[in-house]
Amino acid sequence: MYDVIIIGAGPAGLTAAIYTLRARLKALIIESPSIMSQAGSAAFVENFPGFSQGVSGTQLLSDLKAQAASLGAELIPGDVNGVESLKQKTQNVWQVNTTEKHYPALSIIAASGTSVRKLGISGEDKFLGKGLSYCAICDGAFFREKEIAVIGGGDAAVEEAIFLTRFASKVTIVHRRDRLRATRLLQERALSDKKIDISWSSIVDKILGENKVSGLRLKNSDTNILTELRCEGVFVSIGAIPNTGFLKNTVGLNDGGYITTDRELKASEKGIFACGDCRDTYLKQIVTACGDGALAAYSCQQYIDQLKGTVYN
Ligand code: NAP
Repeated sequence: MYDVIIIGAGPAGLTAAIYTLRARLKALIIESPSIMSQAGSAAFVENFPGFSQGVSGTQLLSDLKAQAASLGAELIPGDVNGVESLKQKTQNVWQVNTTEKHYPALSIIAASGTSVRKLGISGEDKFLGKGLSYCAICDGAFFREKEIAVIGGGDAAVEEAIFLTRFASKVTIVHRRDRLRATRLLQERALSDKKIDISWSSIVDKILGENKVSGLRLKNSDTNILTELRCEGVFVSIGAIPNTGFLKNTVGLNDGGYITTDRELKASEKGIFACGDCRDTYLKQIVTACGDGALAAYSCQQYIDQLKGTVYN
């Protein structure tokens, strides 16, 4: 029986692990082998306090993992597909089901993050790996001296576009509006980069190519005029969807599928906490995910102490 099972090993889950382990809770961390943490796909993180020279997302995650491991973290791979209450059998016990096994625990911290959102147009799946990608850091190097399009206008798309200039001969950001959503500093960098063009008010109508991407057909959202953009690589970076399907019938979710919590990060069911990007939160950043992880762990510790009658009053 675990005191807590932490679902997810991104910045939120690993911070929750560090805090629960320091509180001497018996914790299990389950990391999905099929979902990459959004932080892990960040080529360069330069807004995490304390790293004035920046740090890669993979390095930051690996350091967090090492810190959790130094406290004795038990981290296993697994895809969680459901959470059940064992109330009828044992009061206050939850069971976390993975495709392989079931794990009982007194509490759960959901830190399952988000997955990439797809464009949802025909051909998207067909061209995956044949010019189309959702991860610049994974696939950018395949496009040396090639022309690339990045779809999206948020922080992730603009960061990816800037990162891709180290490989591509030209990068075109294709955005459906006439201005970017991304942080101003990133906008300034993209707008002043000679390798970056922006195709404003453009909606991807079709991905062109036979067996691999050769371009995009774009529709202007004001005029409906169709144009073609030649490119051999397309990186889709249009936001995220929460990985919360396994909690759908267990705790309250908002309309977008994000877990709703109170200010102590308790979800609607006793013993379940949520932190990081999978939670209904105003700002989704690595630093806020870490803060969330610490808070969820603290609330969880209070909950376990109450169950065990060991609260320090
Ligand atoms: P995001 O902020 O939600 O931006 C998604 C972008 O994709 C928006 O510009 C949106 O357009 C566009 N979009 C959405 N659906 C689309 C569709 N079907 N077709 C075309 N375009 C579509 O997502 P994100 O950039 O992945 O960032 C997610 C969160 O992580 C944000 O909170 C962000 O601040 C954070 N993040 C931070 C950093 C950083 O601080 N360095 C880096 C990466 C991510 P509209 O603008 O019209 O809605």
